[in-house]
Amino acid sequence: MLNHKIKADYSSDIEQFLQNGGEIKSAENTNKAEFNYFDADTVAKNTEKPNSHQNHVLRTRAEKHGLKSYTPVASCKSCQTSERSVRSNICLECDRRRFRLKTGLNESKLVQAGEYLLSKNTEFLFTSGGKKYILKVEMA
Ligand SMILES: [Zn+2]
Repeated sequence: MLNHKIKADYSSDIEQFLQNGGEIKSAENTNKAEFNYFDADTVAKNTEKPNSHQNHVLRTRAEKHGLKSYTPVASCKSCQTSERSVRSNICLECDRRRFRLKTGLNESKLVQAGEYLLSKNTEFLFTSGGKKYILKVEMA
């Protein structure tokens, strides 16, 4: 029997996060996310080390305020966004991306996307890891 249940695009950690009242906001690459202020050296160090002391302080503070997510010192190195779960300390956007990768992309969705681009005779620009990419359809 076919299983038509649509899988959520997040892991059980984030499932828990949501059940506890957490919210997933869609990531926007505005390049002007507001981070907690620290000097440039600290920010650079924190980019390398997501579990740094400073982040621990921010995470603990958010937890005391009953918040479900917090903004770390530096943006995530791989997705450039800033929100992490207080409970698991997982970057929300990365968790979703990892989970999507793990569950795989449905091929029919790719075909749909291709047909959409073809019918509109257009291209799709997107940003990943701080770099811009273009998705376009070419005749084989
Ligand atoms: Zn991330």
